[in-house]
Formats: sequence, structure tokens, C-alpha cells
Amino acid sequence: MEQTLSIIKPDAVKKGVIGKIIDRFESNGLRIAAMKKVQLSETQAGDFYGVHRERPFFKDLVEFMTSGPVVIMVLEGEGAVLKNRDLMGATNPKEAAAGTIRADFAESIDANAVHGSDSLENAGIEIKFFFDKSEVL
Ligand code: ATP
Ligand code: MG
Repeated sequence: MEQTLSIIKPDAVKKGVIGKIIDRFESNGLRIAAMKKVQLSETQAGDFYGVHRERPFFKDLVEFMTSGPVVIMVLEGEGAVLKNRDLMGATNPKEAAAGTIRADFAESIDANAVHGSDSLENAGIEIKFFFDKSEVL
């Protein structure tokens, strides 16, 4: 059983598609092991995407991720990391396969609806970043 971190980003929360996105996870064998709605601070968003700090899009990314509340979840299931990335689709929604979350709910490479951990190692780090062990059930 794997766990991975998912974030429903501010664009999708504003659009009112939290339920539709969660349905994609639950319908595909991913259980919600933890969930909360939060407003990220600039520091939190910057630290979370710290690997991208030197990239040209970093400032826009932090601005976007703090532009409204997000829903943060721990998803659990067999091969959860890859399964979630498959359900999400490509980073740029214009390149995302039909039927993926980003193809269906995202507008642009900046406002791309969801985040998902990209490896099992990063999933562990990202889950710890947002949740205490006692909150993952
Ligand atoms: P996420 O980490 O949010 O799940 P990802 O793993 O598909 O997305 P990353 O390479 O980790 O993609 O980039 C993190 C975020 O930074 C992307 O979701 C996107 O919003 C933004 N981003 C990445 N590459 C670019 C780019 N070339 N131009 C603009 N924004 C970008
Ligand atoms: Mg990433």
C-alpha cells in the first residue's frame, strides 16, 4: 500500500470542482486517508515548491498557490504515487490526455488544478510537510 500527497489547487477550489476531483480518486481505488482545506502562506508555498526556487516561474507559482484556499489530501492505494500522476495528466493541460483531471478541469500550466507527489520518496516528505502522523487515518 502506498501513500501520496494530493493538492486541489486554488483554481479548482474556486471553480467548485472539489467533489468531482475527489470522485476521480475514489472511483479509481485511491482512499482519502487525510484531508484539510487551508490557505497557504507565502512561506509554506515557497518551501513546499522549494526545488523550483531558482526557476523563472517560481514567483508566479507561489503567487498562484496562495491566491485562495487549497484542499490537501493523503491518498492511499496500490501504486498510489503513479496512479495519482496518471489520473492528473501532464503538467500543461494542453498536453494532458483526454479524461485526465488536468484535461477536464485545468486552464493553463500555471492554473493546473492539482498537485501530486512525483515519487514515493517525495510523497513521504510532502505528507510530513502537511500532516501529523495522527491525522492520517
Ligand atoms: P505539481 O508539482 O504541481 O504536481 P508537476 O509535478 O506536474 O506539478 P513540476 O515540474 O513539479 O510539475 O512544476 C510545479 C508547478 O510549476 C507546475 O504544476 C506548474 O504550475 C508550474 N510549472 C512547471 N513548469 C512550468 C513552466 N515551464 N512554466 C510555467 N509554470 C510551470
Ligand atoms: Mg511536481
